[in-house]
Amino acid sequence: MNRDKLPRFTGPNLTGELQFNYLDRLIRRDLRVARTEDITPRYRRVVFVGDDLADGFPYVPFSPDHVRVFFPHPKTGELVAPREQPDGSWPNEGGTGDPIHRDYTVRAWDPETRELSLDFVLHGHGVAGRWAQRAQAGDLLVVNGPSSNWRLPENYPHYLALGDETALPALARIISEAPAGSHVTAFIEIADAGEQQKLTGPADVDLHWIHRDSAPVGDGHLSPLETALRAWQSPADSSSLFAFAAGETNSLKPIRRYLRNEMGLTVDQVVVDGYWKRGVGGFDHHDSDIDDD
Ligand SMILES: Cc1cc2nc3c(=O)[nH]c(=O)nc-3n(C[C@H](O)[C@H](O)[C@H](O)COP(=O)(O)OP(=O)(O)OC[C@H]3O[C@@H](n4cnc5c(N)ncnc54)[C@H](O)[C@@H]3O)c2cc1C
Repeated sequence: MNRDKLPRFTGPNLTGELQFNYLDRLIRRDLRVARTEDITPRYRRVVFVGDDLADGFPYVPFSPDHVRVFFPHPKTGELVAPREQPDGSWPNEGGTGDPIHRDYTVRAWDPETRELSLDFVLHGHGVAGRWAQRAQAGDLLVVNGPSSNWRLPENYPHYLALGDETALPALARIISEAPAGSHVTAFIEIADAGEQQKLTGPADVDLHWIHRDSAPVGDGHLSPLETALRAWQSPADSSSLFAFAAGETNSLKPIRRYLRNEMGLTVDQVVVDGYWKRGVGGFDHHDSDIDDD
């Protein structure tokens, strides 16, 4: 890929729509676990350090980017990941098998300590979920990217942020980084009350936790998140609202349709991203068909 031809944007983003700042280089970072922190029974923060963070990390506020994380093979322990060569190619190294990678949101970057934090759902299966369950200080991972900083617009009076626990790191960043003076309404679907986290920010925040174990699911709705959204009294002036939604792909389809067709938000006012797909291992969000209709 010729990165010179990719779009560049430097903020603040007052354009009213998402903007991409493709970074000059895609960087591979070989990192090791410094420590883990159990945020809730099913959510674990993994804090990474390493010499490859010595030059910093492209963390941009209100830009909940993701990185591509390469995991060791659960049986062989081989950590296969590509490394850039002087000719620009990216052959795999570390073993003969296929690389195993998943996307994770950059939850935090501390420029003082040079620590990068990713938050993992401990969902009980999958290479990444199981790796996080067992992660210990000293464990190694490869982190590629981010490829771009995708900057949310900063000139809306009202933000709607919704999703399931995979989106929690992105939603938490929207809540903590939305401009002061704006209003954030968040709907976050989690397993039960024990999974709630403390989330605050300079904006005026209206946070709704949707407990999957007890929240109602309306007739014909695919998730309690959809039911909660449909019951919400949205701002009378729909042009004042920017919406971000992420989580399980199929559950998000009716949510996207509701935002676009029933609430009347324009394509620029809505970002919906399928972060995983029930029953599909290693789902690639670029294959998501959420925007197809
Ligand atoms: C841009 C982006 C950012 C993301 N950020 C985060 C993040 O910050 N934190 C985070 O935890 N996840 C995040 N995800 C989601 C994460 O990449 C997926 O959940 C991924 O599938 C986990 O990999 P795995 O190896 O554990 O499971 P896989 O091997 O991919 O899947 C195995 C099985 O588990 C199911 N499964 C996958 N994820 C879940 C889940 N959360 N709950 C229940 N079942 C599941 C699959 O449907 C499949 O049946 C992000 C995804 C994208 C695209």
